[in-house]
Amino acid sequence: MQLPREVIVGNDTLGHVAAICKKLGFSRSAFVVTGTKTFEIAGHKVIDFLEDAKIDAAHLLVFSSTAETVAMVSAKIKEQKPQVVLGVGGGTKIDVAKLSAAKQNLPFISIPTTASHDGVASPLASIKGSEKPYSVMAQAPMAIIADTAVIVKASHRLAASGCSDVIAKFTAVRDWHLAHKVKGEYYGEYSASLALMSAKLVAKNADSIRPNNEGGLRILLEALISCGVAMSIAGSSRPSSGSEHLFSHALDLVASKPALHGEQVGVGAIMMAYLHGLNWQRIKSKLEKVGAPTNASELGVEPQDITDSLIKAKTIRPERYTILNERKLTPKLAKSLAKKTDVA
Ligand SMILES: [Zn+2]
Repeated sequence: MQLPREVIVGNDTLGHVAAICKKLGFSRSAFVVTGTKTFEIAGHKVIDFLEDAKIDAAHLLVFSSTAETVAMVSAKIKEQKPQVVLGVGGGTKIDVAKLSAAKQNLPFISIPTTASHDGVASPLASIKGSEKPYSVMAQAPMAIIADTAVIVKASHRLAASGCSDVIAKFTAVRDWHLAHKVKGEYYGEYSASLALMSAKLVAKNADSIRPNNEGGLRILLEALISCGVAMSIAGSSRPSSGSEHLFSHALDLVASKPALHGEQVGVGAIMMAYLHGLNWQRIKSKLEKVGAPTNASELGVEPQDITDSLIKAKTIRPERYTILNERKLTPKLAKSLAKKTDVA
């Protein structure tokens, strides 16, 4: 089990970066992976804080999370030989930093600038354009620094998407339990409970997750981090990713302009909750409350994309047993599921 050693969530916490690096034994050199926009928002501050503390901080701007980018960053890290790699940004920068550092057997520190999904604390990385359209094992961050003063400035759409990714654990955990019951798959009660508790907390506090509310954002960040930790405890993405994630991965391939990961997963969770016989209306109303999409038009995709993705979903990752293996969705059944849940 690989777990983060230092987790800091709070207002103006970016300034702790050098002290945390030193505490963890990285007092000489660091390598910062960031993007153009995130460099301006937080990246340059992180570099300044490190250099002020006499930690040599090289940096690299990345623009995508493809396998080529990971190979390029990995080569640069190998050349620079830093003690630690820091990822400063939203999804792609964190994913690239996490995987590139793992490839060089170096520890990684996660500094998210948005709260859009649970990758900020998970041991997995999502790499675009690979054969596998889902996340692969990389490594858990050794530390996480989530500065709410930085993250609160990001668009509310991103936080709403993060809420959806957390609320989706209601169906993810159900799918995992189903695989345990039917296929005898390992089921970790502790990690399942942790993911479920995060979903319950975000659902309960849905009212407070609104623009410019740091209190609500803090709850969301803690939930996202807990979901990441749940994956580290389980040793797989199982507690956080079930049929609703398969639906989202399928939609990424089917739609001409896919929406955000969390947004798609949330809509998937509405439909998968229906298949599981869970209270799908409640999931839908919580998503509405946080301002997340609940149907095809809000996602900006075609109704046909929804039904096509519902059918394609179970082919994305055949070894992952979910409710989609139990309910064989024909085009007609998929269409009716989307209609009954008001998704399309
Ligand atoms: Zn997710």
